[in-house]
Amino acid sequence: MHAEPLQIRNFIDGEFVEPIGGKYVDNIEPATGKPYSQVADSDAQDIDLAVAAAEKAFADWSRKPAAERSRFLLRIADLVERDLEKFARAESIDTGKPISLARSLDIPRAIANFRFFATAILHAESEAHITDNVAFNYTLRQPRGIAGLISPWNLPLYLLSWKIAPAIAVGNTAIAKPSELTPTTAYMLCETCHEAGLPNGVLNVVHGTGPNVGAAITAHPKINTISFTGGTVTGRKVAEACAPLFKKVSLELGGKNPNIVFADADLDAAIAGSVRSSFANQGQICLCGSRVFVERSAYKGFVERFIGRTAQLRLDDPLDEKTDQGAIVNKMQLDKIKFYVDLAQKEGGKIALGGSTPQPPNERCREGYFFQPTVITGLPVSCRTNREEIFGPVVTITPFDHEEEVIAYANDCDYGLASSVWTQNLSRAHRVAERINTGTVWVNCWLLRDLRVPFGGMKQSGVGREGGEEALRFFTEPKNVCIAK
Ligand code: NAP
Repeated sequence: MHAEPLQIRNFIDGEFVEPIGGKYVDNIEPATGKPYSQVADSDAQDIDLAVAAAEKAFADWSRKPAAERSRFLLRIADLVERDLEKFARAESIDTGKPISLARSLDIPRAIANFRFFATAILHAESEAHITDNVAFNYTLRQPRGIAGLISPWNLPLYLLSWKIAPAIAVGNTAIAKPSELTPTTAYMLCETCHEAGLPNGVLNVVHGTGPNVGAAITAHPKINTISFTGGTVTGRKVAEACAPLFKKVSLELGGKNPNIVFADADLDAAIAGSVRSSFANQGQICLCGSRVFVERSAYKGFVERFIGRTAQLRLDDPLDEKTDQGAIVNKMQLDKIKFYVDLAQKEGGKIALGGSTPQPPNERCREGYFFQPTVITGLPVSCRTNREEIFGPVVTITPFDHEEEVIAYANDCDYGLASSVWTQNLSRAHRVAERINTGTVWVNCWLLRDLRVPFGGMKQSGVGREGGEEALRFFTEPKNVCIAK
């Protein structure tokens, strides 16, 4: 169990099965540019099979006591924890992220997702409303049926488990589609679910491309709930497919997040935090702060120290324990990053650090997809480089003179996912947080997570919220029962 598989098959009705069409595509390791396994290239027929399994399983699973469902999820969490090292290695190979990051962030957070929702369902409350002397109402929150869960490649197990755990905890059955670029940890999770004794058909995982498998999920009339995380362009397609069928949809989309540093900040903390929020996972986290704004009086010193610190990041083989910066997920993403670095220069930007592909770190990685951490200064706030999501290790730094100005800069963007504010002035922290149009505002921190808080984006960063109570509500249908007195 849990050796990295050579062939990644679908998991339907509790078994690993070939895609009906018999097709596979290569799964490329970003650090080497070479295939290291094959992944099922499924289509709508496989989704039909998964729907049949999920439908059959729903009757029993949805009626199980919450405590019993909870025990399955806790067992899954324990088994992933037991195999943490294997999951972390697979995640690093699949994505190109440093193994230390997969070990310390992605896999522990996936385990926490299962534990959190396993126990949350034990404490759920129902509302009652008394209508004077006439009636009383209570609200039943029931599982909706089959949930379609579609996730991206950047945080594969973490984001998939963030959807699977609440969906099945409340009694739905699920069909999940990981990105075909990073399918291995989802495959391993299926092995784990099997070992945990999760009843057949409760979780089905169908691998393949977005246009084939993702679109078949959004189009299937029996999959009535769609939780999607990915880019804004794809999110629009998902919304279009789901609207005529009146599906319940949650969309967690892209970001172009402002990171605001006031001169009164603890600059040591702001610099360390900003380097992390700019370059963690090579900048391929939807929450990365890719637009850095620094108050003019602190600007020069900040830029010098930020660059000095970024230059110390060790770009190396993702499987090396000391690596800070690994590989970019694929060639397409690498080309996109290069395109934006060229564009930034055409728009008047100056490359203050990085800006190109580095020497390969070793012979194994000779054909891998690497890009230097890149810092660009001197760009106008409204240019394309400052408005469009690059999703790579590229940040811009821009000075500002006062609070009003930087709030306007932060909000001058179609996205509204997250922001960071660095200041020691408490009143300012509250004032600015209230006025920035992002779903999350971190003050003097980045990526701190409490699983109870609502998570999601404003504007083109999404619709709906995940996390905590919001997720439990999303995956259930409220039904009012009104009883006359
Ligand atoms: P993506 O291209 O939008 O893909 C996301 C998922 O959707 C993948 O599984 C993809 O399959 C699938 N898909 C593609 N076309 C589809 C269609 N027509 N119908 C249904 N599903 C379809 O995004 P990505 O490049 O994997 O991920 C990067 C993006 O995700 C960035 O924009 C990032 O900001 C965003 N993101 C957002 C959050 C958040 O919480 N807001 C978190 C992480 C990432 P294929 O892989 O086969 O194309």
